Amino acid sequence: MALRVGVIGGGQLARMMVPPAIELGLDIRVLAEDEGMSAGIAASAVGDYHDTPTVLGFARDVDVITFDHEHVPQEVLGALVDAGVAVHPGPAALAVAQDKLVMRARLSELSLPVPDWAAVADAGALQAFLDDHGGRAIVKTPRGGYDGKGVRVVRHPDDVADWLTDLQTNGFGALLAEELVAFTRELAQSVARRPSGEIVAWPVVETVQRDGVCAEVIAPAPDSAGRIADAAEEIAVRIATELGVTGVLAVELFQTEDDRLLINELAMRPHNTGHWSIDAATTSQFEQHLRAVLDLPLGATGMLAPSAVMINVLGGPADGDIAARYPGALHAFPEAKFHFYGKAPRPGRKVGHVTVAGDDVDDVTYRARAAAARFD
Ligand code: ADP
Repeated sequence: MALRVGVIGGGQLARMMVPPAIELGLDIRVLAEDEGMSAGIAASAVGDYHDTPTVLGFARDVDVITFDHEHVPQEVLGALVDAGVAVHPGPAALAVAQDKLVMRARLSELSLPVPDWAAVADAGALQAFLDDHGGRAIVKTPRGGYDGKGVRVVRHPDDVADWLTDLQTNGFGALLAEELVAFTRELAQSVARRPSGEIVAWPVVETVQRDGVCAEVIAPAPDSAGRIADAAEEIAVRIATELGVTGVLAVELFQTEDDRLLINELAMRPHNTGHWSIDAATTSQFEQHLRAVLDLPLGATGMLAPSAVMINVLGGPADGDIAARYPGALHAFPEAKFHFYGKAPRPGRKVGHVTVAGDDVDDVTYRARAAAARFD
């Protein structure tokens, strides 16, 4: 009988697990939040992942439960484990990815490099942090942020007066204040780990953010061979091992002027910074995630070309008609790999991505950007 994987969450990450599931002969099912979501192409149920009976019912017919996002409440995860369901990544690891304060505390406990940080529960505590950090800081809501929502540059506690007021009602308890890191660039390191312990790493990549959203990814990160690549891999392997992460783990990093690496964010699932691997690595992050959560031997992570660049299509065409752009784009860029997620175009929304691989990073970057621009 085919191995059965249940994915909670019906976004584009679940959708991109479907092709490798088909190739490997797996039975993949998705619990989507709504009808017509990105992953609706798989055999999908529609239901609320906050509701324990719904999730238990969905899990009854699969061999392992995994995720498209980190938001499934701990009570629901605990109920799955209590019912004997294999859950990967497990609740203890996910708890660290679900809350930025928990994440900072746990990484600090492990002596892993993070920006200076503090939990601030009121204006006085935030002012004290600002005073200690040259009058500027980054403040984040511990939960519910994504794509830069929930992240602000702050010079005065008034800049987050709304969040401080909300603290009482939203149950955060405190905000995360961080030093504003003067990074030279952002990197991301993905690894995959299976329950029995095998762990593999892809090359470290450079990521370019615009308005807090990932815009471009360059694999491998230029000028990263040697010390930087080794350090990034070491950090991600240590996190995956110490936290017992199963499946794909992506670690977002800042590289500083003196070539130190500081950890920004963790994602315990396939991640936007690993989409290039679909077209330019022997094993994509989506195939690897399925192999890892099923505790199957992991695939090789080497690149199929010296360089690959992925550009996100944000928003999509103003007329909303992606398909109308296909004849022109596909004709002009036969070497590009186009991926669209079946989502309605909307300003700022990630609706697809384009990857180009080749020998020369500048040439590949130019062509990937031009191909993606066909969908602006
Ligand atoms: P999200 O979880 O919404 O993606 P992140 O914590 O990853 O938010 O932050 C989004 C972006 O904001 C980062 O990619 C980085 O460009 C910037 N940023 C976040 N934290 C810091 C920091 N401490 N110093 C400087 N820039 C930061």
